[in-house]
Amino acid sequence: MVETQIAARGVCDPGVLRAMREVPREAFVPSHLADGAHVDRPLAIGEGQTISQPFIVALMLEAAGIGPQDRVLEIGAGSGYAAAVASRLGAQVCAVERIGALAEAARERLARLGYDNVEVRQGDGTGGWPGGGAFDVILVSAAGPEVPAALVAQLAPGGRLVMPVGERSGPQQLVRLCRTPDGLRQDDLGAVAFVPLIGAEGFAEDS
Ligand code: SAH
Repeated sequence: MVETQIAARGVCDPGVLRAMREVPREAFVPSHLADGAHVDRPLAIGEGQTISQPFIVALMLEAAGIGPQDRVLEIGAGSGYAAAVASRLGAQVCAVERIGALAEAARERLARLGYDNVEVRQGDGTGGWPGGGAFDVILVSAAGPEVPAALVAQLAPGGRLVMPVGERSGPQQLVRLCRTPDGLRQDDLGAVAFVPLIGAEGFAEDS
């Protein structure tokens, strides 16, 4: 999967490719889908949600440039897969998941697999991780109408935030915000399709 679907499509950061090889994606999907876990597409994880396509996880992690000292915040933990890969690159990962059953399953799975530098909280991640200080990297794994102000506020100096922004079920653009000494810089990383970010600074629950 890593050679033919991720490296071949242009992700070349050796640390990201190594981390993608280390984390067993089949352990993060329902057991009846485990045979297809190495195909490069999203898969259903229950509650109407999906585990992201591996190429997109790799692309986001490469764009975030996670270093070994970095504190990482992920919004939209889902199965816990992207948080697990990020935990192989950074020092600590804090992950927020809105749906209680998914948060609980991700927490149990990550503990069972030994990812002991990942903490999962249930809640609305559009408010970030209150009281957690600033994060070097913020990954948002669901698409919102704009980057939530609380997340920008929790981005450390030199920090990178990667998030899909756009329509609820229409065109979305993956963007990267970097907090530089001169202010925020935004780069566009291409068109993507994510499930919606639902919450106070996201989309409404049932619109
Ligand atoms: N990174 C996940 C992908 C999960 S899909 C993985 O590797 O498996 C996106 C997830 O974002 C869904 O589980 C959805 O429930 C969650 N989500 C949507 N809005 C959210 C919010 N405001 N706060 C936290 N999680 C949210």
